[in-house]
Amino acid sequence: MTLGKYILAIDQGTTSTRAILFDALGGIAAVAQQEFPQIYPQPGYVEHDAVKILQTVIYVCRAAVAKAGVSAEDVAAISITNQRETTVAWDSQTGIPVCNAIVWQCRRTAPECERLAADGMGEYIKSTTGLLIDPYFSGTKMKWILDNVPAARELAGKGRLRLGTIDSWLVFSLTEGRSFVTDISNASRTMLMDINKHCWDGALLKKLGIPESALPRIVECGGDIGICSKTLLGREIPIAGMAGDQHAALFGQCCFEKGMAKNTYGTGCFVLMNTGEEPVQSKDLLTTVAWKLNGKTVYALEGSAFNAGSALQWLRDELKIIETPQEADRLAESVEDSGGVSFVPAFTGLGAPYWDMYARGALLGITRGTQRAHVCRAVLESIAHESYDLIHVMEQEAGVNLLELRVDGGASRSRFLMQYQADVSDRHVKRPVCLETTALGSAMLAGLSVGLWDSQEELTELWREEQTFTPSCTPELRERNLARWHRAVERSRGWAEI
Ligand code: ADP
Repeated sequence: MTLGKYILAIDQGTTSTRAILFDALGGIAAVAQQEFPQIYPQPGYVEHDAVKILQTVIYVCRAAVAKAGVSAEDVAAISITNQRETTVAWDSQTGIPVCNAIVWQCRRTAPECERLAADGMGEYIKSTTGLLIDPYFSGTKMKWILDNVPAARELAGKGRLRLGTIDSWLVFSLTEGRSFVTDISNASRTMLMDINKHCWDGALLKKLGIPESALPRIVECGGDIGICSKTLLGREIPIAGMAGDQHAALFGQCCFEKGMAKNTYGTGCFVLMNTGEEPVQSKDLLTTVAWKLNGKTVYALEGSAFNAGSALQWLRDELKIIETPQEADRLAESVEDSGGVSFVPAFTGLGAPYWDMYARGALLGITRGTQRAHVCRAVLESIAHESYDLIHVMEQEAGVNLLELRVDGGASRSRFLMQYQADVSDRHVKRPVCLETTALGSAMLAGLSVGLWDSQEELTELWREEQTFTPSCTPELRERNLARWHRAVERSRGWAEI
């Protein structure tokens, strides 16, 4: 087999799937993208159709290769990065899911989480998995499926049930059932993996009633993950890199040194900081495996906010006051301030540092003169405010001072948001040329494995800055805006309990 020159990166996100063909310089040869439906069966519930997701993956992979005009022979390897925690349950014999995938944002397991907390499991879960008890993670979603979907229980009884995150589902499907694996970064988000020993934790599996035989084997983020069948591109191609989206973005931003951090502005906002080879425990942040390669594990601290770019989609799809996210940007810049309006994007509760599964969205300070431009501005500002909270708590808990923040993700395209982020957090915000950092990170993991690149130093050379946003706001204004945000957050808390 001759070694191809490209890596085909599959980026399976929350709202869309992309396939990006990267060349040996980390440049983008072609991109194909397809959105898929979000399913909201009732308030607080979010689901995806895992088969539709797989269809988008197949479509975009073929489209990207066709667009670039290359042949399957030119593709050295496939990499996968994905929305994390989203849980799929399927039959090992047919490869057919037993129910819709339960999406990471879904709050249906809040009662189960309360039970775990009441049973005093918080300390054990934190020290073993690095995570806090929250419906966000896959463990309680798996239990919900076993408790509520009769077909899942029946298959479990026959040893045919497969429970996994999206990475695992895609590898299983693309290899036609030959590989049932999950990479360690995705596994570290299930609330079932021991982050020190890198294996499923027996006590947690027992507590949640999850059979270990239904779970995938945990593998590193690079190497022999599986062989994608001929069905996809007409030739067998190794799957050689895999990581959860935020972990891949940290890698793609070349945050290889301890203390380096990035913020990804996608559906949600996720600040991750490389903390080196030892896990750092923290009160309000998550301790997670960043990646593992060639036996070496790198850990990260993570601050997650569940809704960010999704608030712009809400303005577009539900309120219908903008047609594109770019329009929100233009409107926000057309007014001097938000006119006293504050927004809290707590559609599905609040993540770090509040961890309030019952918080809900809030729009406050509306007057008769409030225009849609003020609302758009308040929504964009809220994304920067919640990111500020993540950065602030990260600095406090890790005892570091972040000199710069590397940014990526769909909403980092917003000039207004990036400047406001620099202003409100009083930090330099660095936006790279390649905003597809998530896909790039996974491609880098695969490229290192198949010898397209030799070292992380070589990858660092590929990272290029597009623009730095410099803080230019008075301390008084910054304090006032943050104080108003924190008052708004307090008002949004506990709302769904009423
Ligand atoms: P995910 O991987 O979570 O699906 P992406 O990184 O693809 O997310 O980013 C999608 C988000 O980016 C959407 O929620 C959208 O609102 C937002 N977005 C896309 N383009 C822009 C833009 N030009 N300005 C602001 N937000 C944008």
